[in-house]
Amino acid sequence: MTEEAFDVMVVGSCMTDLVSQAPRLPKAGETIHGHKFFIGFGGKGANQCIQAARLGAKATMVCKVGKDFFGDNYIQNFKDNAVHTGFAGQTSDAATGAASIIVNDAGENAIVIVAGANMLLGREELQDARPALSRAKVLVCQLEISPQSSLQALRMARENNVKTIFNPAPAIADLDPDFYRFSDVFCCNETEAELLTGAAVADAEDAHRAGQELMRRGCGSVIITLGPQGCVVLKAQELSSQHIPASPATVVDTTGAGDSFIGALAFYIAYYPTMPLEEMARRANQVAAVSVQAAGTQTSYPYKKDLPAELF
Ligand code: ADP
Repeated sequence: MTEEAFDVMVVGSCMTDLVSQAPRLPKAGETIHGHKFFIGFGGKGANQCIQAARLGAKATMVCKVGKDFFGDNYIQNFKDNAVHTGFAGQTSDAATGAASIIVNDAGENAIVIVAGANMLLGREELQDARPALSRAKVLVCQLEISPQSSLQALRMARENNVKTIFNPAPAIADLDPDFYRFSDVFCCNETEAELLTGAAVADAEDAHRAGQELMRRGCGSVIITLGPQGCVVLKAQELSSQHIPASPATVVDTTGAGDSFIGALAFYIAYYPTMPLEEMARRANQVAAVSVQAAGTQTSYPYKKDLPAELF
C-alpha cells in the first residue's frame, strides 16, 4: 500500500496497437503483403494518463495487463513516462488488450479490438487502490474497462471529495444514470454526445443543446470536443455555454487527440483547481492541437518542455 498522494489517478485501459500498412485491406481467407508494421501504445485510459504525466502531473494508472510480452512492455512504457505502476496489475487469465489494425493506402482501416485483461480489472484492484484514490486530486475514467468498475471508481472518488472527469468513450447508448451524477466534468466528443442525446452534433450550437441535456442528467459540468472546431464548455448555474475555438494546427494525424485533451484537462484541474474551466479547456485545446501535428497516438503527445511557458 502506498502513502503517496497523486495528482491524477486514471482507472482505465491499456491496449497494444499492432498496425500493418498495406496497399489494400485483405478479403476473407486472403493473405497479402503489407509494406510497414509498427507497434504502438494505446488504450484511452493509458493515453490520458501519459499525457497528464508528460505535462508534469504526478500520475498513477490503475489497470490490468496480461502476464505476457505486451504487458511487460506496457508497464515499462508507464515507467518511461514517469507514471506510477503500483496499481498496474498483470494477470495470467487473459492477454494484454490488443488492437489489430490494418490501414490501406487510402487511409481506410479495419480494426479488431480484444479488450482481454482490461475486462478483468475489478473490485479487488479498486479496493487496493482505494487509499491512494481517496488522496488523489483528480480521478479519470472511461468505458474501455467494465462499466461497473468505472462506476465504482467514480463512486469512491465522490465519497472522498476527489474531483472526477468521466469520458464516456467508447459510447454506449444506455449509460447508467449514476455516471452523470458522479461526473464533475463529463467530457465527450461530438459522436459520443450524439449517441447519448440522440440529437446530431455538428457545430457549437448543437453541442450547446446536447450539453444542456447532459447537464440536466446531473453532470457538474460538460465539455464537448469538436475536433478542429475546438470545444464547448457548460458549467452549473450558467445558462450559456462557451465555445472555445481550437488552436490552429497543420494536421498530420488526429488519432488520440481527445485523449490528449482529457489528459491535459486532468493536469490543469489537479494543478490549478481555482482556474475557470473554460481557461483549462483553452489550454487543453492547445495541448491537443500539438498532438495532431505528429503521427501516432502517445508518440504525438507533447511534454511540458515542448510547450509555451504560458500554458503552465
Ligand atoms: P476525439 O479524438 O475524441 O475524436 P476530437 O476530434 O474532438 O476528439 O479532438 C479533441 C481535441 O483535439 C479538440 O477539442 C481540439 O482541441 C483538438 N483537435 C482535434 N482536431 C484538431 C485540429 N484539426 N486542429 C486543431 N485542434 C484539433
